Amino acid sequence: MHRDPQASNAALMARRHAAVPRGVGQAHQLFIARGRNAEMWDVEGKRYIDFAGGIAVLNTGHCHPAVIEAVKAQLDLYTHTCFQVIAYEPYVELAERLNALAPGRFPKKTLFLSTGAEAVENAVKIARAHTRRGGIIAFTGGYHGRTLMTLGLTGKVAPYKSGFGPFPGEIFHAQFPNPLHGVSVDDALASVESILKNDIEADRVAAFILEPVQGEGGFYIAPPEFVEGLKRIADRHDILLIADEVQTGAGRTGTWFACEQWPVAPDLIATAKSLAGGFPISGVVGRADVMDAPAPGGLGGTYAGSPIGCAAGLAVLKAFEDERLLEKSRALGQRLIDKLRQLASRHRCIGDVRGLGAMVAIELFEDGDPARPDADLTRRITAEAAHRGLILLSCGTYGNVIRVLVPLTASDAIVDEGLAILADTLDAVR
Ligand code: PMP
Repeated sequence: MHRDPQASNAALMARRHAAVPRGVGQAHQLFIARGRNAEMWDVEGKRYIDFAGGIAVLNTGHCHPAVIEAVKAQLDLYTHTCFQVIAYEPYVELAERLNALAPGRFPKKTLFLSTGAEAVENAVKIARAHTRRGGIIAFTGGYHGRTLMTLGLTGKVAPYKSGFGPFPGEIFHAQFPNPLHGVSVDDALASVESILKNDIEADRVAAFILEPVQGEGGFYIAPPEFVEGLKRIADRHDILLIADEVQTGAGRTGTWFACEQWPVAPDLIATAKSLAGGFPISGVVGRADVMDAPAPGGLGGTYAGSPIGCAAGLAVLKAFEDERLLEKSRALGQRLIDKLRQLASRHRCIGDVRGLGAMVAIELFEDGDPARPDADLTRRITAEAAHRGLILLSCGTYGNVIRVLVPLTASDAIVDEGLAILADTLDAVR
């Protein structure tokens, strides 16, 4: 590989700080030169194992050969028409595929967009158009994006919402169930009922929106009995259920959509990230009658459902079949859980190891006490691990969770090498 011998992370970081606003945070002070599957090399030639996956975008790894090949073939045909001007088959085919994959025994339709936030925004628009109601109930600790509506839905102030209000009205936050931090399923359902009693009439609420596993919020899993209870309330009042699967989707949790593991089907699903293996496309998949509520012209966007993204998405779906990546997701999840539990037995600071499929995290506490989340230790671990060649990402309302989003295509050897670096890091930072 050709590499500029003068290139340095520090010099590029200095240029970055001078040219790019500080509001765009950065977890690691590094610049990438090349990525392949679960490995990356920085501009100084140092190798890293990637447990961050570009925040859940690289379930099929960096530059999956079949995805790259499909994109290159698409580049030679056409790159853009705007689907609202001249249509193209890959959009329709990807919609058909997702309609077939989404749970629920009802006809489905799919709309494509570009980003996760845009998918969530459109799910809300569609839910409002269908119900002719304005209210949306989201959950504490939820993360839905950085646009003003999705920030309004997001259930964590710092750093996302600080200074950016006011947000759109008619958004309320119920408690997300989190027994580890003192919120039971009953508490969470009671908080929904309390909003319907104290804040907004049920017949003015269009939808509930939740993540099957909270991503930025800390990899807390919505228990099936909570989803069931929420759906009961929804059905009683004709309120729709939106699953924000931007982080959980595309096979991360062991099924294509995490909500396939729910006891009930959502009305709408927002999807993005790993759907196209590193290319920007997102979508809303949902009940056909709901999806058809907005009038022609009400939905879309210049780049929405770009041909490149559609071609990449179809290649990702094929890779899932060819390489049996859903099975791999479940096996990888079990491997991660087993090995992280072994680590937890040696390190009191790891107070919880949890996961759904390969969406796995550890939560760190001072002396293992859930009342004392250890964000400082979390920061020291992610920094030291990077120094040792492992890219980790933290998350969580308390900043004390380390999440694993390693590509599902990673070999066992690479996963074990990454986990060994994590084990050494834990020994080193104590
Ligand atoms: N919803 C969830 C659950 C997410 O995890 C994210 C991104 N982290 C988003 C929405 C927003 O996606 P994007 O950054 O592509 O707009």
